[in-house]
Parts: sequence; C-alpha cells; structure tokens
Amino acid sequence: MEEALGLAVPASRGRRLKILCLGAHSDDIEIGCGATLLTMAARRPRPESRWVVWSAAGQREHEAKRGARKFLGVATEGIRVHAFRFGYNTAAFTEIKEAFENLAREFRPDIVFTHARDDRNQDHRIVSDLTWNTFRNQLILEYEIPKWDGDLGRPNFYVPVSPSTARRKARALLSVFGTQRSKDWFREEIFLGLMRLRGMECRAAGGHAEAFYARKLTLSL
Ligand SMILES: [Zn+2]
Repeated sequence: MEEALGLAVPASRGRRLKILCLGAHSDDIEIGCGATLLTMAARRPRPESRWVVWSAAGQREHEAKRGARKFLGVATEGIRVHAFRFGYNTAAFTEIKEAFENLAREFRPDIVFTHARDDRNQDHRIVSDLTWNTFRNQLILEYEIPKWDGDLGRPNFYVPVSPSTARRKARALLSVFGTQRSKDWFREEIFLGLMRLRGMECRAAGGHAEAFYARKLTLSL
C-alpha cells in the first residue's frame, strides 16, 4: 500500500519531493501558489515536477510554458499544455478525465496543487473535482484565486514566504502574462495584498504567506 503523505514532507527524509501543479488556465497555478513554488525551486534538491494546464491555446500556451519554467524551473518534458474546452456534460469532459488518469499512471506526486472545490469558476471546479477523483494517496492543496466573483473563503493551510519572494511572484506574474495585464484585477497590489493578509493570519515571520485548503491530512508518526 502506498504511504499517504501528511504533515511530514518527504524532502525532510532526504529524498526529492515530487510535485504536481494543475491549473485550468495559463496563469492559475502561478497566481495560486507561485510564491510557494519559487520557494521550493530554491531548495536543493529541487523537486521533480509536472505542470499541467488544461485549457490554453495560442499566446496563452506560450505564457503557460514560460510560467512553468520561471516559477518552478520545470523541464520542458514536464510541462503539458492542453487546449480542452471545459464543461461537465460535454465530450471533452470524458477526454479530460482520461487525461487525468493517464497523468496519474505516469507520475505519482507527493503533493498536488490544484483549484479550490468552492471556486466559482466552472473550469476551476472541474479541475478540482477531477483532482480528487484521480489522486487518492496524495496531499492535495487547493490554492485560491482572487477575482470578481468574490469567492475567497477561509483557508486552513499556510505556507509562509519571504517578502522578496512575494514581490518576485507579483512581478513575474505581470511580466509573464502579457495577455492578462489589461484586466483590472491583474495587479501587483492585489497579489501582494492577499499574500500579506494570509501572512498576517498565520503570523508569518516575514509577513507574507500563501494559503490553501487542505481537506484531508494524515499524520505519519
Ligand atoms: Zn483560471
């Protein structure tokens, strides 16, 4: 039986951490957990990672790949960018589900970063649902995305990050995602503000943190 991962992160046991990052669109992973990933990428050994964006085409596909390299240093072969059209009752749903199953067969992560179950964006929810369907022996951390819907909730898992990493995340978002810069919510102060607020909530030493929903945790003693 596979060992379920809980609070003891395997990197602390001397082996390379395996990370899977899932996002519906090209900027979701970076907004949701970019500072956590920048912090992980600076650690040695650097995590073995897979980065999957489910719906990005054209310029947004290019941005997705740039983001994966910039935030986590993912090797080209670890980056997968699909161009699915989302929807629960569509033919594409079956295809997306199959793609999730194929992914689980080829890569067994320790930690999966994915969308939050209660995110109001339907594409985000589908990715979240399929994550829970597919990965049953992994620590799943659901990230948050600030947006017009005003659906931020009360997360229960925090990753403190340094102030310089928080700033690097905010600047990198603006530099990588040129297609999003015209959106009124895609602003450095929004990203920094949310990390500052979460840092206050968890009493982060440097004042900043990213927050997640951890619905199930096991403690391996
Ligand atoms: Zn999105």
